[in-house]
Amino acid sequence: MKLSSAMSRLGTETAFEVLVRARALEAQGREVVHLEIGEPDFDTPSNIIEAACKALHSGYTHYGPAAGLPALREAVAAEVSRSRKIKVTPDQVVVTPGGKPIMFYTILALAEKGDEVMYPNPGFPIYESMINFVGAKPVPLPLLEEREFRVDTEYLRKKITKKTKLIIINSPHNPCGSMLSKKDLKEIADAAIEHDIPVLSDEIYCRDVYEGKFESITQFPGMPERTIILDGFSKTYAMTGWRMGYGVMPADFAAQVAKLQTNAASCTASFSQMAGVEALTGPQDEAHRMVAAFKERRDLIVKGLNEIPGIRCLLPKGAFYVFPNIKEAMKRGKFPTAKAFADALLQEAGVAALSGTAFGQYGEGYLRFSYANSIPNIKKALQRIGEFVEKHK
Ligand code: PLP
Repeated sequence: MKLSSAMSRLGTETAFEVLVRARALEAQGREVVHLEIGEPDFDTPSNIIEAACKALHSGYTHYGPAAGLPALREAVAAEVSRSRKIKVTPDQVVVTPGGKPIMFYTILALAEKGDEVMYPNPGFPIYESMINFVGAKPVPLPLLEEREFRVDTEYLRKKITKKTKLIIINSPHNPCGSMLSKKDLKEIADAAIEHDIPVLSDEIYCRDVYEGKFESITQFPGMPERTIILDGFSKTYAMTGWRMGYGVMPADFAAQVAKLQTNAASCTASFSQMAGVEALTGPQDEAHRMVAAFKERRDLIVKGLNEIPGIRCLLPKGAFYVFPNIKEAMKRGKFPTAKAFADALLQEAGVAALSGTAFGQYGEGYLRFSYANSIPNIKKALQRIGEFVEKHK
C-alpha cells in the first residue's frame, strides 16, 4: 500500500518498543525490572470497578454523545472549577478515550502546514510527532538541567513568530518530573495573551505532586479563554487501560473538538464514563495513598542513583519519573549515546529504562526511569545499575 506522506512524519512512543524488547528477554527466561512504562503499578480502586460493573448492568452499553455523558461532563466541570479555582461549565468539557486524543485533536484543529508550534523538549514524544504529522514546524523549548528542567520563558518569547499557532506546556512534567513555577506560568501567560496564542496545558500529573503545590496557567485572567487543559484518569486513579481522559477548553472550541471525536471514535465508552463519575465524586483515599507511595519511591530512587559514581539526579517535584544525568557514566563506559547505555543496561543488567532522547534531542545524556514500581523492585534495579556502571568504568 502506498502511504500518505504525512505517515512518514508520524513518530511513536519508545516506551512500548522497549517493553516489547524486555518481554522478549523474559520469554528467554531472563528476569527484567520494568522501569520503562509510565503507568501506576496499583489496581484501579475497587469503588470505581464496582461503578463500572453497575453501569454495565444498567444499560450503559450504548453510544453516548460525542463530547461525553452529561453526568461526567458535569463532574469534570465541578472538579476542574474546584482544583483550578476557575469557573468551568459542562459545555467546556470533552471526554475522550484517554487524555492523549486531546493532543491529537487540539494540534489537528489549530495547526497546519506553514504554522509553528512550541513544545517542551525533552517532552512527551507525541507532541512533536503530531506537530510533524499535521505538517507544522516543531519549535522546541529546551528544558535544561541547570534550569531544573523548566521552560526558559525569555527564550520562549524570542521564538514567537506570526506563525506560532500553539504553545504546549506540561507541568508536572514527563519525563523530567519538573514543575513550572507560578512566575514561569505568568510569564508564559503574558506572552500568550500579548501574541494571542492558544496554550495546550497538559496537566495529567497535577495530583502527583510532592514538593510545593500544583499551579495551572488558567489562574491568570485572559488564560481560561485561550487554554486547553488536558487531564484524565490514567495516572491519578490507575486507570490506564480504561482509556479515560478529558479536555477543558472554551465552549466554542469544545464543539469543534467534539466534531473531531465524532469523526474518529464517536464517543468514549459509556460504562467507563460512569466509572469516571465515581472516580471524581467518590472517596479519594486510594488516590492519596498512591501519591504517598510514589513519594517514598521517588526518595529511594533519587538517593540510590546519586550514590552511583557518574550518575547525578535532581529531585523531581511531581509525576513519577526521574531523569538522571548519566554523561559521566557514559564517558567512562564509552557509550556514545544514552540509547546505547539504555540498550546495554537492559541486555546486560535486566533493567528496562528509556533513553532521554526518546523524548527529544535535548534528552541526550539522560535516562528516564519510571518509579511507578514496588520498593523491592526499585532496590533491585538500583543494585543492578550500580553493578553495571562499576563493570563499565
Ligand atoms: N500526557 C502526558 C505527559 C503523559 O505522560 C501521558 C501518558 O503517559 C498522557 C498525556 C496520556 O495519558 P492517557 O492517554 O493514558 O490519559
